[in-house]
Amino acid sequence: MDTKPLEIACPHCSAINRVPAARLRDAPACGRCRQALFAGAPAVLGAANFDQHARRSDLPLLVDFWAPWCGPCRVMAPAFEAAARELEPSVRLARVDTDAEPGLGTRFAIRSIPTLVLLHRGREIARQSGAMTTAQVVQWVRGQALPA
Ligand code: ZN
Repeated sequence: MDTKPLEIACPHCSAINRVPAARLRDAPACGRCRQALFAGAPAVLGAANFDQHARRSDLPLLVDFWAPWCGPCRVMAPAFEAAARELEPSVRLARVDTDAEPGLGTRFAIRSIPTLVLLHRGREIARQSGAMTTAQVVQWVRGQALPA
């Protein structure tokens, strides 16, 4: 049984925090910026902080690749936000604006938006294109083989 604390990247300042798994649901705060590690909202990621969440963190990372001009993306935004409230603290949700961060769009070969990519420790586990409801996002993530 692995009882090592989880390393969790802060959604606000991206500092790595060590949190025992048993404390995840006790509203842990970031040791650096003092804000909540789980705010019930997607983190906004770019080239500067993406790998802190995608590679350094022990939490699975669900990324919504979107763009401001994309109608279905805007429709899906509140559903994705609601999915964050349901899936935290087991999964970190994040959004990447592919207009502002074309390098990340290229790295993940994003051909259509919205596209959801589920990552764990830098490895892609699954992806799904097209707008989804909150229930569809939650069901899709829970149907993937994720670490307990
Ligand atoms: Zn922080």
